[in-house]
Order: sequence, then structure tokens, then C-alpha cells
Amino acid sequence: MKQIHMVDVVGQYKKIKQEIDSAALRVIESGQYILGPDVAEFEREVAQYLGVKHAIACSSGTDALLASLLALNIKPGDEVITTAFTFVATVETIVLLQAEPIFIEIDERTFNLDPTYLEKAITSRTKAIIPVHLYGHPVDMDPLLEVATKYGIPVIEDMCQAIGAEYKGKKVGTLGTIGCISFFPSKNLGGFGDGGMVITNDSNLAEQLRMIIVHGSRERYKHEVIGINGRLDTLQAAMLRVKLRYLDKWNQTRREAARRYNELLTNTLVQIPYEAPYAKHVYHQYTIRVPKRDTIVEHLSKKNIPHAVYYPIPLHLQPAYTTSKFPKGSLPLTEKASREVLSLPMHTELEHDQQAYIVESILEALK
Ligand SMILES: *Cc1c(COP(=O)(O)O)cnc(C)c1O
Repeated sequence: MKQIHMVDVVGQYKKIKQEIDSAALRVIESGQYILGPDVAEFEREVAQYLGVKHAIACSSGTDALLASLLALNIKPGDEVITTAFTFVATVETIVLLQAEPIFIEIDERTFNLDPTYLEKAITSRTKAIIPVHLYGHPVDMDPLLEVATKYGIPVIEDMCQAIGAEYKGKKVGTLGTIGCISFFPSKNLGGFGDGGMVITNDSNLAEQLRMIIVHGSRERYKHEVIGINGRLDTLQAAMLRVKLRYLDKWNQTRREAARRYNELLTNTLVQIPYEAPYAKHVYHQYTIRVPKRDTIVEHLSKKNIPHAVYYPIPLHLQPAYTTSKFPKGSLPLTEKASREVLSLPMHTELEHDQQAYIVESILEALK
């Protein structure tokens, strides 16, 4: 059996090495390293893939979120409703703008924010809602959008883990006001460095976003709004264009790997990931819920089987983000999830015998 990896970016690269290498070389030889033609082409291709009017490539998923909040004019004291069970970037960007994250509880099955708590959390200061399609499973968007529309609040979909995932047959990221994508190497569409994208059907927002990621300017040395250096490198765009062509196939490979894990884990003490009837899950992570997580983790470590906990400390309990509004115990479902989740190796190069070995080892630890 081959060595098991949590993600295998090199293994994936090797299968398409020639295409990637020639795309990279073409850019290096062109000398157009910033905003070269591949960036615009990549934007056009992603927009077409997702079925959205505007796509603006940027330097990371984090900068996609920051640019979105800036474009929506989020100001100090504004409130943004989101989840504490996510990667830090979702909340970091809110706090950087001196706005206040308001956390609502998660759905215990999907780990995503539960829209039934949304309306109660809305105040006159609520200026945006950020649902996160965690692990690649879509948020239940219809009830969320119903409340957002009722109060006229824009929705930023954090789809950093969910490119290609679908909600009721529609691509996530295209349902709200803005969608934010990450091309971090381990993501479902991963580059060879940092990268991101913002998508929207709103032409005014698209124009703002395009300015914001280039220092707030559309004409050189004329700065209309406050911006950032948030462009995507031409080199990343050229290589990501190659990978985009494989995305559907790779997401399907992940779904098949998830199905095999599910079969192997049926009728055990392990709770397998839920895929809601409205959802097409793209399994950025294959995340189980387990009793005695420490015992399992210890056993897997001893056997050199990679595993990870996303995320062991919810954001309202992180030193940098604690506030009196959300003390320990204030989000019991979120806190319980962070104690019970365990993500298993999941990538496009995972093999059947490796999955069988991983599951066998988990079940040994549970005996
Ligand atoms: C990866 C990720 C981000 C940030 O993306 P970067 O490209 O790493 O900046 C934001 N939110 C979520 C949920 C993520 O998984």
C-alpha cells in the first residue's frame, strides 16, 4: 500500500504535469506577470462554469472576503451574521474592518449555520450575512435568502471549500449577492500558491470589486476608493485554467471516495457525513463525528495515518476573537461539534486499499 496523504497536491500535479508546465512556461516567457491575458481568460471561464455574470480574480480567499466586505461598504460598528464553526478568515476580515461578527448556531448534521436562527439575530446594525459552505456541503440557502431579502441584507457566500457544490441543482456562490472562492493549494480547485476569486451578478458591485483589488483605482494613479493589492498572478491563473478543466471529474472522484468511506463505516459507532436532499456535496473534507475522538486520534497517529480536526476551537473561543457577547457555552452545538469532528484523508489520488486501512484502524480504536 502506498503512503497515505491527507491531501496529495504533488500526486495530482504529476498526472497533468505537461499541461501545467507548459502553461507556466508560456507565462514566464511572456513577461506579463501581473494582469496578463490568462487572468481575464480564467475569470471568463470560471464565470461560465458557475453561470454568473462577473468573476474578479484576486490574491486569496481571504482577500476575496475582505474585498467583498469593502465593496458592501461595511463600516466600524456594523454587524455581520456568520458562523463560529469556520476557518478564521471568514471572521478575521469582518473584525479587520472593525465590524462585529454575530454568530448563530449550526445545524448539527451539516455543520453549516442554521438559517432558523437567522431572523432573531438581525438588528438595525446588520449589514451582511456570510454563510459558509463548510467541507463542501451547501448551506440551506432558501430559508436564509428569504430572511435576507425580507430585511434587504446582502449575502456573501464563503464558498472557499465548495467550488462546484450545488444547492437544488444550482451552483453555490451564485445564490447570494457575492461568492468568495479560494484557490489555496489544498482546496478542490487548488493553485500552486495563493489565489482567490469574487463572483457576482451585480454589475455595480463588480466594478467596485475590480477597483478595490487594484488599490482602489481603475485609472492608473487615480484612487477612487480605498483598496488593497489583491490581484491574482498571471502564473496562477494560467495553471488554474488547466486545472479548472478537471474540476468536475475531480469532484466526482471525491464523491466516489466519500461513498466508499460511507459504505465501510455503515453500522459502526461513527457518524458519517450527511448529504441533505437539497445538496450536492463536493467533499472538500470528509468529516465524521466520533465518540472518544482522543482515543482515535492517538491510534491513528501511532499508525502514521494522517487525520485532522477542522476546527478544534470555534472562533468565539479563540483568544483573538473572544467577546462578552459570546462566552464559552453560548454556542453549545458549535462547541460540541468542535469536540467531535474528525476529518479523514480526502483527495483525488486516494486509493481503495488506503481507505479500507484507515477505516479498519478507526474501528480498532473504537473497540
Ligand atoms: C480556505 C478558506 C478561506 C481563506 O482562503 P485563503 O485562500 O486561504 O485565503 C476562507 N474561508 C474558508 C471557509 C476557507 O476554507
